[in-house]
Amino acid sequence: MSEPSSDARKIIGWHCHVYFTRETRDVAVRLNESVQDAFRIWDYRWLDKGNPMHPAPMFRFQFLPEDLARFVEWITLNRDGLSVLVHAITGDNYFDHDYNAMWLGKPLTLDLEGLRRMEDSMARGELPKTLVPSTQVAAGAEAAGQVRYKPGDDPHLQSGPNN
Ligand code: ZN
Repeated sequence: MSEPSSDARKIIGWHCHVYFTRETRDVAVRLNESVQDAFRIWDYRWLDKGNPMHPAPMFRFQFLPEDLARFVEWITLNRDGLSVLVHAITGDNYFDHDYNAMWLGKPLTLDLEGLRRMEDSMARGELPKTLVPSTQVAAGAEAAGQVRYKPGDDPHLQSGPNN
């Protein structure tokens, strides 16, 4: 495991990733609706295929930091058998998806080395630097609840790979 970057102790937001399979996609579609009935979310992605980091289809979003306790209770009772990752956002993507993370249900093995390779490539300029830094996205809490996201929506597709 790597050492966190110096600012990795400061939590500026929370991500939730909900993983599904072709067989459980309908369950994820329902959860996608019910979570938005109960919480204001933003920073949304829906992936019908895994990517260099995520081994399975998933959707992910941020919820408001003040909703953390209520959200963890809610998702514990409502995940309907799906694997769920809740992790802090500190600006250190690698550390956030590993050490700063909690799983509900069966944990999946994320390809964190794939994430590292992707970030290294971006740092070397081999991939377009179109990512919005996660710290900046986390700060955008005023976007919470402004959009009703549908399965398949992926605003990040316009701006390149993201976690
Ligand atoms: Zn995440």
